[in-house]
Amino acid sequence: MAENCLKSAGKRKLATRLVRGGLARTLFAETSEALFLTSGFVYGSAAEAERAFKGKTKRYIYSRYGNPTVTMFETRLAEIEEADICVGTASGMAAVFASLACLAGAGERVVAARALFGSCHYVIHDILPRFGIKTELVDGTDLKAWARALARPTRAVFLESPSNPTLEIIDIPKVVRLAHRAGAKVVVDNVFATPLLQKPLQLGADIVVYSATKHIDGQGRTLGGAILTNDRDYYANQLTPFYRHTGPALSPFNAWVLLKGLETLDLRLKAQCDAALKLARFLEGRRGIRRVLYPGLASHPQHRLAMKQMTAGGTLVSFDLAGGKRAAFRFLDALELVDISNNLGDSKSLITHPATTTHQRLGAAERARMGIGDGLVRLSVGLEDLGDIKADLVRALAAALGKG
Ligand SMILES: *Cc1c(COP(=O)(O)O)cnc(C)c1O
Repeated sequence: MAENCLKSAGKRKLATRLVRGGLARTLFAETSEALFLTSGFVYGSAAEAERAFKGKTKRYIYSRYGNPTVTMFETRLAEIEEADICVGTASGMAAVFASLACLAGAGERVVAARALFGSCHYVIHDILPRFGIKTELVDGTDLKAWARALARPTRAVFLESPSNPTLEIIDIPKVVRLAHRAGAKVVVDNVFATPLLQKPLQLGADIVVYSATKHIDGQGRTLGGAILTNDRDYYANQLTPFYRHTGPALSPFNAWVLLKGLETLDLRLKAQCDAALKLARFLEGRRGIRRVLYPGLASHPQHRLAMKQMTAGGTLVSFDLAGGKRAAFRFLDALELVDISNNLGDSKSLITHPATTTHQRLGAAERARMGIGDGLVRLSVGLEDLGDIKADLVRALAAALGKG
């Protein structure tokens, strides 16, 4: 529920906002952000409680509505995103679901790009239709497909760019133009780009959602999420009542961990993006690798668009191993440093085989449509020594190419 204090923070540079944004010290003058592990708050009188519930005083009522540590996280992230409003959530999926469910009702339409994180796909393809919401998936890179789908009135558009795991880039300003003409609000899942590499609100989107579990924590400790917007009407009349009464609230402890994550986000990202680009170049053209997908590579089909919308290619590199699932499994099993994990954005390098994990539920036909082959692996580049990561990948590649 942070409506941020950009006025004072507006002049401060990013590195300062990452460390100091939202800091609200108590009378004990602590250096680090205080952790308010409290579910409720007390009132000096019955009349004070009445005023609080009527919304006549601005104060904390209950941690499902808001909590001072959560507010510090929300304010800091809002300052980094340069957004007016940020609402913290318990996870990225809580942010995705709340941002859409507060918006669309029975009989209304939601259009989304097909290349989605597995759980986002489930929310749009399976859950929303149960409430009578009509949903349609389109090829996010095909503007004609967007135009066809958005020829009818639509309540919300949802997209990820870059997408998981194929790292497709969607032209956000062009989709926004089509969406707004159809009356839709545009929700961008900006997890892969992070608030530092891409600013969807400045590209015209209405709402940005994050899984803070990924780069914002970035150290594998906690779940978290956030919804950011400059749309006060959406915030006041749709998101706030939905959020208050359905309970996707962020825990104060997790908010505190995430505040600490934000302090080093810029430093971690610079190192991880730099290593990811070097690894993508290193892997491209190597024997046993069919293709490397990385927005920062000139060979990426939307490289120019990526470099227009983003300031770097990100921390994820996907590549297709010749030899399908068998080669991919051999490759993963031969790694000694890089861990097999479906998480991403971590300080530890992690790798996953999307076809049998994050995107397993979709079935072969839908995976094929999304470009997720059986040889595709997704590497999240961490903070280890680049030479060590390279050596691990080279060893595993040799094992994947081995006989049998
Ligand atoms: C991980 C992820 C989510 C979900 O976030 P959780 O914090 O795991 O709930 C949503 N979208 C994308 C693109 C993700 O990578």
